[in-house]
Amino acid sequence: MAYKTTNPYTGEVLAEFATLTNEELEGKLAKAKETYKEWSKTTFEERAALMKKAAKLARERRDELAAINATETGKLVTIAAWEMNLCADIMEYYADNAKDLLKPHYVKTTDQMAGDAVGIYQPLGIIYMVEPWNVPFFQMTRPSAAQLMAGNVVVLKHASNCPQSALAMEKLYRDAGFPEGCFTNLFIDYEQSSALIADKRICGVTLTGSTPVGRQIAAESGKNLKKCVMELGGSDAMVVLPDADLNKAVQGAIMGRMTISGQVCAGDKRMFIHESLFDAFKKGVEEAINGMVAGDPLDPNTTLSPVSSKKAADKIKVQIAKAVENGARAEEVGPKLPAGDAWVQPTILTNVTPENPIFNEEIFGPVLMLFSYETEEEAIELANGTDFGLGSSVYTEDPAKAARLAAAMEAGAVSINQPTMASPAIPFGGIKTSGFGREMGAEGIREFTNEKYINSA
Ligand code: NAP
Repeated sequence: MAYKTTNPYTGEVLAEFATLTNEELEGKLAKAKETYKEWSKTTFEERAALMKKAAKLARERRDELAAINATETGKLVTIAAWEMNLCADIMEYYADNAKDLLKPHYVKTTDQMAGDAVGIYQPLGIIYMVEPWNVPFFQMTRPSAAQLMAGNVVVLKHASNCPQSALAMEKLYRDAGFPEGCFTNLFIDYEQSSALIADKRICGVTLTGSTPVGRQIAAESGKNLKKCVMELGGSDAMVVLPDADLNKAVQGAIMGRMTISGQVCAGDKRMFIHESLFDAFKKGVEEAINGMVAGDPLDPNTTLSPVSSKKAADKIKVQIAKAVENGARAEEVGPKLPAGDAWVQPTILTNVTPENPIFNEEIFGPVLMLFSYETEEEAIELANGTDFGLGSSVYTEDPAKAARLAAAMEAGAVSINQPTMASPAIPFGGIKTSGFGREMGAEGIREFTNEKYINSA
């Protein structure tokens, strides 16, 4: 059975779920379509009342859902609890703002024939969401809260290693009062996923996942002329200028890179430090990582957790070895790790040249690539020297330099003196091979609406 909860800390398989038969899938799709007909006619006020209830439940069930999350993904239960608060914030944001974000807008023209126009946003139908395991509740909430408030309904294929998170989210929406068919979890395989993308009842596709899977799902969406949003991987840059506050930079690097043991899409994966600060910065991050407590993710005192699976850990170890074969220097840091297959010793990579294949790969684990640079131009060139462009950060105490660097970074987002943050009102997404389209904010809710213009002379 493909859908399984395996605790990465213990290696124990805790639950397994069968894939849907094609008949079961058809039944769920037919129900979603039937529900859409009624749901799309509800008012913003009716939808908002249910979304507020969902947010309330997300807060009330925070600890229970955080434990499921930590057990399925191996992330710290404390971070998983924070994730639930963020989900509730996103639900409340869209409950409070959807009506305004989708309000009719007027276009005045000087065209005597066409006249003036009004633009309205209408829902499209069933939106198919494919989501990753790293922040499983946040990933489900971002598109679903927006699209349910827009009047669409959603069907979900979640990652096969977090089935209980998917079921808990479906239950949360149902318990909040959303009709059956508004949010439908589907335990489906890749073949069924392809059939779903081709199905006429699916009106849009959104994927959060890796770049290779993005290429596949965007191609399938394109072949079927379905609008899609691609929220993909990153190997983001952190640039520390000579006037930066070193403590802020070290803290930002640890938060940006070590949260969820380095498994954050927009975590700072390549760090460019001015040569005058390089040694002190490296010493600072080493000390911070050495002070971490490795252990059971469910223990609130743990600060360093395993990665999501043995397979993920093995992949990271191969990437480190390959980086070294190509001239990098790897230094293991951090506390002694407990026994277990899903652990990766935190590692600092230096001497990585742009020619080293690792320079252009995403390492989804606790590995920091540090670079020393001399000039700002060199830092920008190196920072932009990958195929990715998700969320970068710049550390400086000078607002003019911050603005200059932020403008120069090839990324969907740039944060100043902090790692990339997720905030409900700020649209998030990438450029280059980090994807296209946005989630959250005004752009997020409008992605799967028909922006229809009605004109009259
Ligand atoms: P992944 O391997 O790309 O999987 C993502 C989702 O796609 C999972 O549900 C997976 O299901 C599904 N999938 C894989 N191949 C498929 C196919 N051929 N047809 C249909 N579905 C398919 O990514 P991951 O390892 O779970 O997640 C980590 C990646 O996500 C990283 O690259 C990270 O940077 C990125 N990410 C991006 C953002 C963002 O907002 N930009 C946020 C979080 C994570 P199975 O589990 O069944 O394979």
